[in-house]
Amino acid sequence: MKYETVMGLEVHAELSTETKLFCSCSAKFGAEANDNVCPACCGMPGMPAIVNKKAIELGVAAALLTKSEITREMTFDKKNYFYPDLPTGYQITQFFAPICRNGRVEIETQAGKKTITLKQIHIEEDAGKLVHDTRAGATLADFNRASVPLIEIVSNPDFRTAEEVTAYLEELRLLLSFAGISDCKMQEGSMRCDVNISVREVGADKLGVRAEIKNMNSLKAIAAAIAFESQRHIDALETGSETLVQETRRWDDALCETFSMREKEDATDYRYFPNPEIMPVSIDDDWVESVRASLPESARDKYARMTETLGLPAHESRLITQSKNLSDIFDAVSALCGNPRETANWIVTELLSIAQGDNKGYDDIVIDCGNFAKLIGLVDSKVINRNVGKKLLVKIFEENIDPAAYVEENSLGMVSDADVVAKAVAEALDENAKSVAEYKAGNQKVTGFLMGQVMRKLGGKADPQVVSAVLNKQLTM
Ligand SMILES: [Zn+2]
Repeated sequence: MKYETVMGLEVHAELSTETKLFCSCSAKFGAEANDNVCPACCGMPGMPAIVNKKAIELGVAAALLTKSEITREMTFDKKNYFYPDLPTGYQITQFFAPICRNGRVEIETQAGKKTITLKQIHIEEDAGKLVHDTRAGATLADFNRASVPLIEIVSNPDFRTAEEVTAYLEELRLLLSFAGISDCKMQEGSMRCDVNISVREVGADKLGVRAEIKNMNSLKAIAAAIAFESQRHIDALETGSETLVQETRRWDDALCETFSMREKEDATDYRYFPNPEIMPVSIDDDWVESVRASLPESARDKYARMTETLGLPAHESRLITQSKNLSDIFDAVSALCGNPRETANWIVTELLSIAQGDNKGYDDIVIDCGNFAKLIGLVDSKVINRNVGKKLLVKIFEENIDPAAYVEENSLGMVSDADVVAKAVAEALDENAKSVAEYKAGNQKVTGFLMGQVMRKLGGKADPQVVSAVLNKQLTM
């Protein structure tokens, strides 16, 4: 290994506030274009900017979770540039006094544990979104996202491999989403990442020429872009095939290559200056402590509680704590049905496969927790068998049926009457004399088939334990 890749990350995470950073427009994703705009977020002259307190609190929460030093008097500044997605002509950000500095995030890769150090986290407003309409040859501007609050988490150049980068992004996603700071949905753009990348000879002090790959929003694309860009730098150093320049590049997912967008501006090009319309915000100890006290359980703590306190399997606990949404479903359902073990099992073995069949990620699963809990109770108390339960879970997922009423209306109650089962078993054995002969010749495997035949006769509703007992008895008679 002659070369090493050196990377630093700038991660943008949209804050989970109801409203925008300096006005009362909704910050929700997915509205009709330009529904969530007002004179303030469109930069009309004379509109006052009022700081969103919740955004500051979420910023403080991010500072606490990354063990950063919180700035006690923070200010907002103007970053000037002209681009059609920015109606004001400047972005309000924190240049001189960001909300915190010198944090750290622990990650774990195949190579072991590593600490990634953070330069700073600052709060800023997002820009709007441009939609390129190729048929009309026009570009349309949607300002719903303009002035939605976000934090930018700026790391030091501590990364050496794509694996470290993805482990860090996963860790940030868990930290921020479990604390309710951001939903961190990369596919919706609420978490995006710029990768600063350079290559140098192993042992060299000086960093190589740096390229910045902008606006990456999937882990897969990030890993591919890092691989491509590292190789491009190495080729340039080895063969002199091109002269590396400091620049901004974009990743093309279809072509699997990066392309030059523009040569990198230096910070001074933005003409940062303090925003005279926004008062500095003072953050005192009481405020910090109240935010600390309000932090919910982290993914790590939840995992420890599930495995240690509740004694649940590590595999199930790990899957559930991959997603804030899934963890919330687990908490709600297990509280309602009083059976965390069964809840975890139903989520991992059944709910996840139903969701996968519907192309839903963990964060996008929607299910009525009350009906889900009722279903687990019905199976637990042997009102229905597990197979019927599985079918009902699909019905709850798709149509939100009430499982108790549905069982009643469709007579799905479990058949455990020994006489009824014995009759069905006798019929099944009569009809499958060949399998019975195989069993008597020593092939135990046919019991599974015979079990299925009996179950079918009983409409899939029988108690499998009763069927198994009766079947074994009749076979050995
Ligand atoms: Zn507004």
